[in-house]
Amino acid sequence: MNIACIAHDQKKDELVNFTIAYEPVLKDHTLFATGTTGTRIMEATNLSVHRFRSGPLGGDQQIGAKIAENEMDLVLFFKDPLTAQPHEPDISALIRLCDVYEIPLATNLATAEILIAGLSRGDFDFRELAKRRK
Ligand code: PGA
Repeated sequence: MNIACIAHDQKKDELVNFTIAYEPVLKDHTLFATGTTGTRIMEATNLSVHRFRSGPLGGDQQIGAKIAENEMDLVLFFKDPLTAQPHEPDISALIRLCDVYEIPLATNLATAEILIAGLSRGDFDFRELAKRRK
């Protein structure tokens, strides 16, 4: 599966720790991330991550474009709900596209844990069908 990882600055440690904990699961998938988040994940794990631009410089939109092409299967977006972001419109657009294309989206650690459990269990197999219908 193609998995997108994004974390706002206050949430980067949380997402990095998440990827360390789930490295055995994530290593079997293709990872994408916004710039700084991807660098942090690669520094902390042996995972290889395709990095887009930094979020405020268009990275969220690049991930959104992959969603619109039906090329993203899961989005782990550790959002900071307590800090204003300069690229708020891009964040809203990304979340909206997940809803348009019915892409599983976690915006916090608790949801991410549940989605990763589902990923390991095969709950994402429906995405293969969705991709064939593209
Ligand atoms: P970053 O982008 O991973 O490049 O920091 C994430 C964001 O802040 O949107």
